[in-house]
Amino acid sequence: MNLVSFSLKTKGVHNFTRRLWTVFTRFGYSETQTRRALHTVVDALGQYNGAPTFFIPAVVLRRHPALLQEIAHCGAEIGIHGYIHNDYRTLSEKEQHEQTKRATLVFQKTSIPYEGFRNPYLGWTEESIDAFASLDFTYDSNEAILHDVIDLNDLSLLLRSGYEKSLALFQAMPCNAYTLRPHFEGKLLRIPTSIPDDEMLFDRLRITDPKEVGRIWNRIMQRVYDLGGTYTLNMHPERALLCQKALHTLLSFAQAQPLPVWLASLKDIAQWWKERSQFKLDFTPLATDRWQVVATCTPRATLLARHLVVEGRPTSAWCGIDSRVQADHFIVAAGQCPCIALSPETPQEVFDFLHKQGYPVVYSSRDKASGYALYLDMPEGLGTIREEQVRRCSAMVQQIENLEAPLLRFGCWPDGSKAALAISGDIDSVTVQDFFLRIIEVYHYK
Ligand SMILES: [Zn+2]
Repeated sequence: MNLVSFSLKTKGVHNFTRRLWTVFTRFGYSETQTRRALHTVVDALGQYNGAPTFFIPAVVLRRHPALLQEIAHCGAEIGIHGYIHNDYRTLSEKEQHEQTKRATLVFQKTSIPYEGFRNPYLGWTEESIDAFASLDFTYDSNEAILHDVIDLNDLSLLLRSGYEKSLALFQAMPCNAYTLRPHFEGKLLRIPTSIPDDEMLFDRLRITDPKEVGRIWNRIMQRVYDLGGTYTLNMHPERALLCQKALHTLLSFAQAQPLPVWLASLKDIAQWWKERSQFKLDFTPLATDRWQVVATCTPRATLLARHLVVEGRPTSAWCGIDSRVQADHFIVAAGQCPCIALSPETPQEVFDFLHKQGYPVVYSSRDKASGYALYLDMPEGLGTIREEQVRRCSAMVQQIENLEAPLLRFGCWPDGSKAALAISGDIDSVTVQDFFLRIIEVYHYK
């Protein structure tokens, strides 16, 4: 699908004409306007010791290498947003691989380091995941988590149908404690992104009041904080100046939370999850209600405990029933072993999943089930269809997070943080010329 058919399909003729008009107001014929927008985002995050992640199609990078080098030099992370701005769902597996490879070559030639990929229109497929993994990407940021912050009853029928079309186009997923966390598929880390994005708010729902946009973003941040996930905000730099106030509102709201919100670039998140995936907890029984615990982890780990006593080591209050343990060798006293046990029939994939989510897990026979915080018997495993896997993983994470039993586990984020916030943006075009070249490029590569 190309830009014209995409826009007509989801916005209608009237909105598409409106969009064309905004192109001339948001982009210039030179790089000046986009340069100012990119620096605005970099500077805003710099005030909070953070850095943004921008994604750009390789052909656009090739036309503006010095600008992107300048932005990267200021600390921003640059990721790949396709070779051209097309929808991978219209490409074969071979074409996806070829175009992704081609994009990496342009980045390498321009000496811009990259680790991540975000598809135009978030249009990823199972084949895209294989292509990213085989081309050694560290992460992708495509799974669109829908935050239910818009009251559809307040919308006119026209706006509502446009909004619903874009949810379908972005393959929106439900929001819960599991879907808000990154997860590994093989070596590739999948970092969720959030919708509605700025484009949906401004151009489809006509919500342009910076105060209202800030309020919506804060509501999403609050929910992500409560669930302990990541809020990957997607804000196109072409709207950076319009969103400047809302961005400051969000950043100061995140900073004002009782526990830290980790402001990170997506590559920092990917690096952290790789580090965290090596963590593990080992329990050696000393008596029926005491265990020697060895935590294999780095000093950044957020080790959390509930419903147990850590002997001889200070713990600090964290959130709700959880407290934070800052030691790697210690003894715990508890009514049950503070770990999750699996029946012998439960496949290894469930064990691996729980381990990567930060939970201590062992295999145990059924007759010892009551000796553990939770005993799971899942001979059917995680399921074969993606939707089924997401459903089962979500249910498991929710069950464990709500557990009223002794439990030790690794929190999702480093240094005691409760949630993460990543500010990302897709640089679809730098100039007016780029915007119109997109249409030609997509036709040319059909
Ligand atoms: Zn894009």
